[in-house]
Amino acid sequence: MSLTLVEARARAALVSDVSYDLTLDLTGRDAYGCRATVRFTAATEGAETFLELAKAREVLVDGLPATTYDGRRIGLVCAAGSNEVTVEARIPYVTDGDGMHTFTDPADGEVYVGAYVGMDLCQRIFPCFDQNDLKAPVSLTVLAPPGWSVVANGRLAGHPDQEADGRWRFGTTPPIPLPMFTVCAGPWHSFRWEHAGPDGQVLPFAWHARASLSGQLDRDADELRAVTEACYDEYLTMFAEPFAFGSFDQVFVPGLNWGALENPGCVTYRDEILPVGTPTEGERRRRGSVIAHEMAHQWFGNLSTMTWWEDTWLQESFADYMGYRVSDAAGFTGAFVDFSISAKTRAYAADERRSTHPVAPEPEDVADVDEAFNNFDSISYAKGNSAIQQLVTWLGDEAFLAGVNAYFARHRFGNATLADFVDALDGATDRDVRGWVEAWLRTTGFDTIRATRDDDGVLLTREGSRPHRFSVATYGDDLVATGSTMIDLSDEPVRLPGAAVVVPNAGNETFVRLRLDAASWSALSQDLASIADDSTRAVVWATAIDLVRCGDLAPEDFLGLVTRHAPRERSVAIVESVLGWAHRTLVAHHLSPAAVPDAVGQVAAACETGLAAGPEEPIAVALTRTLAATSPDSLLLGKWLVDRQTHTGLPVEPDLRWTAIHRLASLGALTTEEIDEERAGDGTIVGVLGAAGAHAALPTPEAKAAAWERLLGDDGLSNREFEAVSAGFWDPEQTALVHDYLPHYFHEGLAEALRRGASFEERLGKSFPPVPFADEHLTVLEDVLRGDVPTVLRRAWEDAYDDLTRTRAR
Ligand SMILES: [Zn+2]
Repeated sequence: MSLTLVEARARAALVSDVSYDLTLDLTGRDAYGCRATVRFTAATEGAETFLELAKAREVLVDGLPATTYDGRRIGLVCAAGSNEVTVEARIPYVTDGDGMHTFTDPADGEVYVGAYVGMDLCQRIFPCFDQNDLKAPVSLTVLAPPGWSVVANGRLAGHPDQEADGRWRFGTTPPIPLPMFTVCAGPWHSFRWEHAGPDGQVLPFAWHARASLSGQLDRDADELRAVTEACYDEYLTMFAEPFAFGSFDQVFVPGLNWGALENPGCVTYRDEILPVGTPTEGERRRRGSVIAHEMAHQWFGNLSTMTWWEDTWLQESFADYMGYRVSDAAGFTGAFVDFSISAKTRAYAADERRSTHPVAPEPEDVADVDEAFNNFDSISYAKGNSAIQQLVTWLGDEAFLAGVNAYFARHRFGNATLADFVDALDGATDRDVRGWVEAWLRTTGFDTIRATRDDDGVLLTREGSRPHRFSVATYGDDLVATGSTMIDLSDEPVRLPGAAVVVPNAGNETFVRLRLDAASWSALSQDLASIADDSTRAVVWATAIDLVRCGDLAPEDFLGLVTRHAPRERSVAIVESVLGWAHRTLVAHHLSPAAVPDAVGQVAAACETGLAAGPEEPIAVALTRTLAATSPDSLLLGKWLVDRQTHTGLPVEPDLRWTAIHRLASLGALTTEEIDEERAGDGTIVGVLGAAGAHAALPTPEAKAAAWERLLGDDGLSNREFEAVSAGFWDPEQTALVHDYLPHYFHEGLAEALRRGASFEERLGKSFPPVPFADEHLTVLEDVLRGDVPTVLRRAWEDAYDDLTRTRAR
């Protein structure tokens, strides 16, 4: 059971002025030593409260065995005024990414450890009051094996060579939210520099990666430094508050469950975004926006922190919006095109499931931290981002930033709520911010903007309840742009003069379902690639995806759009997203098993057509990646492996090679021994995971049985291996082989989830089988959901059920 809102409020009323003096001994191999002195002020003499500490052994409180420790909490009786308690414990390392994670690099045998926290996992690292509104300064000392280096939230104050006790010492941090504590230790390869921002403050910066990725870090160092500096300068130009945390480390860590964590002064990223092979344009753009996103959190989240988890959006929506906006300014133009065709389309789907919620829920809607976990979803990120985009469009940038700066000034190093943010915005504008917030942030679902055509032109009507401000693009018969205008649309329809083609929301300013007039849709579906503006093409593609989801466009007709337009597409983001949606979501949710191979083949054919036209390299790379995952031509892919280059001359680097190996395995064109040979030739974690997936993808009952045994029989499978084996096992073109496992996925998966807990629930839910379901399998899922399913798994399965049944005639 996780911390409840009621408990958090009671503890915040009792406890204040918290600080931690923490020593970690990371020299042990199966467990680490932890000594924490917690100081705080209590309001009431004799009041009872507790520190959280999960799964610790040999726990001592003030030097004596802890009689009040129950495996997750240490009971305390407070003195009025100052209190101090010292806890010593040994705590096991984990390999599932939730706690003090340890990883042994298969490439060189080197060991790394990292405190991967977020949510309520700081209690797996040291004893603490594990809630956002008990922010505290942390003083950290670390004993690490020789040859390692250590980075953490605080600025490095003492190196083992300088310290008499041979320890790493970090300066006391400003008050930080406990879910954002981190320490990362190991033989890191590091790249350090200093940079003065626009405010003149000189800050030490660094990037760190595993020693076996030193070549990759050196390869990308110039870009990583340039993006970091550009984002930093942009934030310091927008925000009046300086960067608050003394130094800025960024670490590519192994096995992180989150995409990244915005820990104050020490951001951690999953190290897959430092790829072994040359990163593609799409990978570089997405990495740029993650860097900008996590840096935005240094203000939205770390400087000013939500009080309770209903305001997850106050951090995630803003960071998501700023991530795209600022990475675009840092040189990754087209970031919002990527957003509108990928994350935003997922937000529309999320907003139509039963699990949807207002962007800004009430605190009582999030009763405990387990429920809060479920709000780290497409509503809090992508819909919230879209709402902020609409707010900026509606309010104007100057008033928006004035409100944001007032908010930071009032709540620096403190906690705040939606009401505080609205107060700050309200002071910066004459517009009715409170009314806007009620309409946009306190409601679920979205409006429809419908365009209809008559003799007088095009009429735009809004079905719904929200005010919208957006651009409308018009085109002639030849689809050459003739104009663009910004309009406001709410209760009253808006009439536009006739144009051959009219696209509302062309700049993707608002969050809305779009229904184009018949003549415009017809022209676009014939010749979409002729539209010059990337953003407008993305809006039209997103509309096509929505039409399929609503059952208003047949999957075959969507594949027709792919065949006609994807080969001519000029935006890498659109190529990747549209082809990815077609060969993953479309086949799993909208096709019968018999139709899947042909649909995947059509995606591969579109890639071949596009490649034959000799596109620019970034487009060629995107098409080649998709071709590797979808091609039915085992001779072609096999030749890539031998030649070490594709038929169009691109080098076959590790990521592409393993995608091709996976595909060859799933086609039955590789043997177990051949996969093992490939694995022997690539000793990195990419090779380990690639081989795990390829073995699971082999189309034989024996291979599937062996993979199944690994998935649910092997307690020691790391989080990444679980994902890799799942991805190989559940192949939508192998329904005959895997359909019988679907009932086992639910029944045995549930039993394991009840036994293993929330992190396994999350892994199992994320690995929901992406294969077409027969009615009998839906019935199994319905039966399971009628029973007792723990919170995190229930959310994943209900969402999947809603997606599967949305367009199904039942
Ligand atoms: Zn975030």
